[in-house]
Amino acid sequence: MKEHILILGGGVIGLSTAFSLSRRGYNVTILEKNSCGGQASGAAAGMLAPFSEISEDPDPFFKFCLDSLRMFREWQDEIKKISKSDFEYTESGSIHAVYHESDILSLESRIAWQKNFGSEAEIIDGDRLKSLEPNISDEVVAAIYSKEESHVFAPDYVKALKVACEKNGVTIYENLEDVHIKSWQQELVVQTTHGQSFTADRLVICSGAWTQQLESIFNIKIPVFPIRGQICAYELDNEKVNHIVTTSQGYLVPKSNGTLVNGASEDIAGFSTNVTEKGISRLIHWNKHILPFLKTKQPYHTWAGLRPATQDGFPLLGSLEESPHIIFATGHYRNGILLSPRTGEAVADLISGTPLDLYTKGAFHPERFS
Ligand SMILES: Cc1cc2nc3c(=O)[nH]c(=O)nc-3n(C[C@H](O)[C@H](O)[C@H](O)COP(=O)(O)OP(=O)(O)OC[C@H]3O[C@@H](n4cnc5c(N)ncnc54)[C@H](O)[C@@H]3O)c2cc1C
Repeated sequence: MKEHILILGGGVIGLSTAFSLSRRGYNVTILEKNSCGGQASGAAAGMLAPFSEISEDPDPFFKFCLDSLRMFREWQDEIKKISKSDFEYTESGSIHAVYHESDILSLESRIAWQKNFGSEAEIIDGDRLKSLEPNISDEVVAAIYSKEESHVFAPDYVKALKVACEKNGVTIYENLEDVHIKSWQQELVVQTTHGQSFTADRLVICSGAWTQQLESIFNIKIPVFPIRGQICAYELDNEKVNHIVTTSQGYLVPKSNGTLVNGASEDIAGFSTNVTEKGISRLIHWNKHILPFLKTKQPYHTWAGLRPATQDGFPLLGSLEESPHIIFATGHYRNGILLSPRTGEAVADLISGTPLDLYTKGAFHPERFS
């Protein structure tokens, strides 16, 4: 009989991990203190955009993101088939715009190293830029056009993942309020305030921005902390936006339900998911320099979520040295939706006996801060 795996947290990372494990025949249970996808994962803009997100250099995190992007088409196909639900996977491509001639050099160096990773990105301007994105501002002097970047409708993606998990036999407990690890070294026992008790062979920790709360239990440093992201959406009338459009100040993602998602601020506000005037007005102030038709529009919806950030910007992915039955998969910061297939498969590989060597030994090791 295959092992029983407990997963703490039912965001996109917990659900993807459960999905990957269930495909390999493991007996999987998710314990979620609130509702699956109710935190960062349901708040995300859904961009699958490693080339736009990582501009500096091809570190292990970029490679991790790129691998995940290239898994997405097949992965989402399977989730769609099993869940019988759609979540608007759209291979739209992206436009990353700049406003000054002096910024073009940085675009050139960016696409030079990205080419080594199979990117077909190109620098465009003038008529070509206007033909691809007719409503883009005349203030934009040039852009990187990257065909490969895509997006999903994140709230529907997590719903579909949940259904796919259930259809694959994953047991999901939600609204548990408080879930705590009673013992883990000899016997693994996890309890809830309602008095339920769970035992298993392994525990995978996918608790996002709340993971630092487990430091005292495992007696290691877990510097994962919440960075609030405030975001809004517009209703489009007849205006056309064809691609993900990004600048150094933010991004706009056209959804097939006729809305345009505009994100996102970054600030430290503890575990507050309140939306503030300051957070949203920064987006509103800037976005007219990207798509001028937004000057006359107001967002119809605003919301916020807590990205799980880490001290060095890399996630925690792997098992504890002395206790290999405890596995961390958390700290995906701005890219958890993008990273969901690669993370799920990496954890399933590890549990199936393949040692994790993600690009550079130790880069994502969960004990690297201790
Ligand atoms: C505004 C915004 C826009 C974003 N846009 C994008 C984007 O375009 N593309 C992209 O790839 N990423 C994006 N992200 C980032 C992405 O949303 C996150 O990286 C991802 O959702 C993290 O997933 P997670 O499962 O680790 O965390 P979460 O979705 O937060 O899930 C963690 C879950 O664990 C539960 N939990 C915590 N502690 C416990 C416990 N002790 N027991 C049981 N359950 C527990 C929580 O209730 C929660 O449901 C965005 C984030 C924000 C906020």
